[in-house]
Amino acid sequence: MAIQVLKFGGSSVADPERIGRVAEVVVQRRREGHDVVVVVSAMGRTTDQLLDLARQINPNPSTRELDMLLSVGERTTTALMAMALQRLGQEAVSLTGSQCGILTNASHSHARIIEIRPFRVWDELEAGRVVVVAGYQGTSYKREITTLGRGGSDTTAVALAAALGAERCEIWSDIEGVYTADPRVVLDAGRLQELSYEEMLDLSRFGAKVLNAEAVEFARRAGIVIYTRSSVDPSLPGSVIRANPPAEPRAVTGVACRRPVTAVEWPPGDGAGLEAVQEVLRERALVPDFVTGTATGIAWMVFSESANPGLGTVLGEVLAGTRAGVRPGLATVTAVGDVAAHEDLRTRMLPCLEELGGQVLAMFLSPVAITLLVEGGVADLVTRRVHRWLLGEGVPPVRDGSGGTNVPGMR
Ligand code: ASP
Ligand code: MG
Repeated sequence: MAIQVLKFGGSSVADPERIGRVAEVVVQRRREGHDVVVVVSAMGRTTDQLLDLARQINPNPSTRELDMLLSVGERTTTALMAMALQRLGQEAVSLTGSQCGILTNASHSHARIIEIRPFRVWDELEAGRVVVVAGYQGTSYKREITTLGRGGSDTTAVALAAALGAERCEIWSDIEGVYTADPRVVLDAGRLQELSYEEMLDLSRFGAKVLNAEAVEFARRAGIVIYTRSSVDPSLPGSVIRANPPAEPRAVTGVACRRPVTAVEWPPGDGAGLEAVQEVLRERALVPDFVTGTATGIAWMVFSESANPGLGTVLGEVLAGTRAGVRPGLATVTAVGDVAAHEDLRTRMLPCLEELGGQVLAMFLSPVAITLLVEGGVADLVTRRVHRWLLGEGVPPVRDGSGGTNVPGMR
């Protein structure tokens, strides 16, 4: 029988009733004759709550103990999901990442999957059971429990799908597809029917939460097609992420927002503290999301707060006594697209920048993205503005008189 891997995010399994609904979807798939592997996230906001709990005990907890704690969130869901399936008369078994043979490196809190030996999963499927897998976790060669970074259940699902040679991998959440921006923030954001791995990868890297970037990378390497679905309304069409989708190439794929981010800001010409910061990064094997500098040194370094819990505090400590400042609670708003091939995109951002004025703390350019660093409180507003200027209805003509009133390839 062909194997299907179905992954359900935190909102899809937030309470007993929703777990029950997911169980029904799974039983239906079994009836259609598929072997089903279910990958689940922690219920609702469990991971955040566990993190809060840890911080109340110790503001700078060790990442090893954090992994022991956070991995419990997903384990809870697996056992409950297996019970829900059994109640419907479907044989099911819950397994941890470790029991599924998910081997990772030893980088606690952002471990990478090195190898999967899914023997136990095969055996259970063979015995006719639905296998319910705890996402977001594995075990290192030192037999330590590791977690894969926030949103890491997606990675578990895609990596397992690849290891099992699954026919498909579906990612179920409360939003049915990938949009040109978070539809809860930009009301007229459009659903992208099909995307290439590269487009999705860039959106995810710059903060789109629909899919974890590492998962997309896995899918690309293994050629796994990803389908997104809504657990609120399974009848809605989702998005398909695959190699070379038939759609025309786009200038702008969408606008992504990452929040909160922490930035370190150095005053012009004063790089004091940079060495100490680099030492912290080396210790944690961390790379900043963005770095910008001037002829006299580094100006900004930006890190995702959720991917690096506690980092802001540590940086604050090592920078004490210098003029560099740690600024938590910021956000990055990124227009993702083929900037390299569409020189005009930068020009098109100018009126937007003018409109936003002093709200933009820094701007980062790359061949695939234009990113604005802003205060967390204005991130939604900036996202809406950038979306309107680059993708929205009635986009004003570019100022250099080069014509075009809209970005090629967009709705
Ligand atoms: N529960 C983890 C998180 O909240 C992993 C996941 O949901 O994929 O980030
Ligand atoms: Mg997720």
